[in-house]
Amino acid sequence: MPKPIVAIVGRPNVGKSSLFNRIVGERIAIVEDMPGVTRDRLYQDAEWQGREFTLVDTGGLDFAEDIITSQIRKQAEMAMEEADAILFVVDARQGITTIDEEVAKSLRKTDKPVLLVANKVEDFHKIPYYEFYALGLGEPIPVSAAEGLNTGDLLDSLVNVLPQPEEDPYSPDTIRIAVIGRPNVGKSSLVNAILGEERVIVSNIPGTTRDAIDSPFERNGNSYVIVDTAGMRRRNRIDLPAERYSVVRALRAVDRSDVVLMVFDATEGVAEQDKRIVGYAHDKGKAIILVVNKWDLIKKDDKTMHKFERKIREELAFLPYAPIIFVSALTKQRLPKILELVDFVADEASKRVATADLNNLIRDAVQATPPPADKHRRLKIFYATQGGVKPPTFILFVNDPELMHFSYERYLENKIRETYGFEGTPIRIYLRQRE
Ligand code: GDP
Ligand code: GDP
Repeated sequence: MPKPIVAIVGRPNVGKSSLFNRIVGERIAIVEDMPGVTRDRLYQDAEWQGREFTLVDTGGLDFAEDIITSQIRKQAEMAMEEADAILFVVDARQGITTIDEEVAKSLRKTDKPVLLVANKVEDFHKIPYYEFYALGLGEPIPVSAAEGLNTGDLLDSLVNVLPQPEEDPYSPDTIRIAVIGRPNVGKSSLVNAILGEERVIVSNIPGTTRDAIDSPFERNGNSYVIVDTAGMRRRNRIDLPAERYSVVRALRAVDRSDVVLMVFDATEGVAEQDKRIVGYAHDKGKAIILVVNKWDLIKKDDKTMHKFERKIREELAFLPYAPIIFVSALTKQRLPKILELVDFVADEASKRVATADLNNLIRDAVQATPPPADKHRRLKIFYATQGGVKPPTFILFVNDPELMHFSYERYLENKIRETYGFEGTPIRIYLRQRE
């Protein structure tokens, strides 16, 4: 289920990242530690009173603007367009600045909920945070992100204004595909080409989230839906100028998907933003296919594809399991292969290993290379079982989880993959102490 997105907006140094850490920090303490998972501090899941949401620190988004004011204006625009709620942070110790006034002016125009957060209020009596009433955004909520003061009240107010989660209308066996990538890499062209070949049930039905447009279709008796990202809304209006990379929309599409098609332009390669988004997909346990489009534009010899592949593998070293495919939406080269791969990785992500087989495999792996000893103590793995699918999740019962080394966990993951593949999907390994 997609989670509502909450954006933190405000000028530099008001305490946005402190607030971000304060809110997700409490959550991180609850969730299981997952070694090997790259966490992006810009987008984190958080939870308050059973309500889950994704928090985005817009201060960390790079809009490639030099002037602070236009940076912040872009952040606010992004938040107003794409977030479900906005935390507008001001520095109560500094009082109202011109930038605060400007941001407030644009935020007053949105009908999304905006909470005005007066930060750095360690002492309610000494710091006149109520002067921020003048911004016309309602009552300022005084907090100290640094000390964690009153942040509980802030979160109470926040979860009160979050929209109720909506459920996807698709049957559980529908494979939900997100097509992500920077503007102009060819997402719309690919989607059109794919849909052109398949039986589209209904074209462009409104998606489940307010602004999404989904495209369901059937193929060989299987149901699919391509969930919306920015590029696709232009499907019938490709004459529009390229739009900016909509990070938040991409995140939402990833959240709602089973399989992520990460599209690159063969003439451009992998960008920083790509790494972030696909890293998020990895964190979320989504199956991933790397699609290099516009392959028709590349002058090739017999080594070109290999060289390309090596470069992408280097850039995305955390995704060794994701298949790479070289296609052209223009010439339709290898396009049918995309849905074949989608079927394949969706199956891999849902695969279950019998407990006895898994335990044999782990036993053999431990015999071949025993875990390294740490201060005279050695990790013992008593028993292993697969706890779930999508992504495949394995639970190892051990004498002491602290004794597991990252490299040894990687070794076990590789052993599991050598035998069972799990191509295209992340794998999770959890450790439990056996009584
Ligand atoms: P950002 O640029 O908006 O992300 O701000 P940061 O979170 O990096 O904080 C900027 C500065 O304000 C840092 O020196 C923080 O230590 C300080 N700061 C953040 N929150 C608080 C707070 O609640 N009280 C006080 N006194 N200082 C804070
Ligand atoms: P999006 O912004 O990612 O949805 O990209 P579009 O599908 O709108 O494509 C951007 C531009 O690249 C358009 O001019 C397309 O015609 C062109 N394009 C898309 N796919 C290919 C391809 O495989 N080869 C070539 N040569 N051009 C392509």
